[in-house]
Amino acid sequence: MPPSDMAGKVQTVLGPIEPQSLGVTMTHEHLLIDLMSYFTMPEEASTRWYADRPITMDILGKIGQVWYINKANLQQYDLSFAIEEVLQYKYAGGNAIVDTTSVGLARDPLALARIARATGLNVVMGGSYYIPISYPAGMEKKTETQIADEIISDITVGVGDTGVKTGVIGEVGCMYPLSETEKRVLRGSAYASIETGCPITIHPGFHNDSPHEILEVLTEAGADPKNIIMGHIGPTVRDLAILKDLAQSGCYIQHDLFGFELSDLEYMGEVGVSISDVQRMERLEFLIDGGFLGQLLVGQDVCQLWQYRRYGGKGYAHILENIVPRMRKRGFTEQQVHAILVDNPARALAFKPAKATRKSAKGRKG
Ligand SMILES: [Zn+2]
Repeated sequence: MPPSDMAGKVQTVLGPIEPQSLGVTMTHEHLLIDLMSYFTMPEEASTRWYADRPITMDILGKIGQVWYINKANLQQYDLSFAIEEVLQYKYAGGNAIVDTTSVGLARDPLALARIARATGLNVVMGGSYYIPISYPAGMEKKTETQIADEIISDITVGVGDTGVKTGVIGEVGCMYPLSETEKRVLRGSAYASIETGCPITIHPGFHNDSPHEILEVLTEAGADPKNIIMGHIGPTVRDLAILKDLAQSGCYIQHDLFGFELSDLEYMGEVGVSISDVQRMERLEFLIDGGFLGQLLVGQDVCQLWQYRRYGGKGYAHILENIVPRMRKRGFTEQQVHAILVDNPARALAFKPAKATRKSAKGRKG
């Protein structure tokens, strides 16, 4: 396998670029996705009515609250629609988007390359595995070495025979507490990060202690906290002391659910209580006051149909069109806004120097 020579560069689906060329970046979005692993058939007949409905105005409010009972809401398979929607972000001033669609969510390398060519946006593709309900068959038998090798191949050679390469490892999907298989996926992701320098991005379980549990597994395996992005931080870490502690580890803190105010994020017994955009801005201020400006990232995690413009949602341009003006009104300086939208993503997504060699990889325990 060719060694990674990506240090200091950002890997987009159309090839490596200099971090300063990245521009305004949303660090956690989905352009095409299959979330059907979340689909749950309701118990009651009248609620089952929603399962096969197309998304229409009269059911939008309901779908925003109970998003996993409608199949159409969970399937974004339309390439032209993705281009139409993401162009709104470009028109608002966006330059780059990280598609954190990992294995289990129908990651589509060639479609992402087409979107990048059609829009001129820098698109960075994800890798590794999403949460256990979306694992492909046989995951419990895979060793962490096999998982690491797969991810490294996606980064250095490209996914399958597409030639399109992963630029960020994740979103790595985790529940709380972690299962043994999830720990193996995390260790495999850590080894791939060390050996290529590629950053890791995490979807934690919805629990105050989940990010720390995950960080522990990653750093014990040798990963650098400065090369880790902790996502979905709003519904996950409710305790500000824990939030500060997490920032002190050096990892990136990502508020990536801007625009998501309708519903609690509930599935498989976990409840992430959705916070509001006001609370997200207050948390950014809290972290800036704590000296963590350089670790802050934002996004909207657009992935369900009700979040898109065509279906009445706020879409990919919400932060640029609606939040940045409010940040300015609240007293954020231009330098702080620029740090969050431009400088921090460039630093977070640039590959770090690759450390371990394939020789040292052989010494890993399976
Ligand atoms: Zn996501």
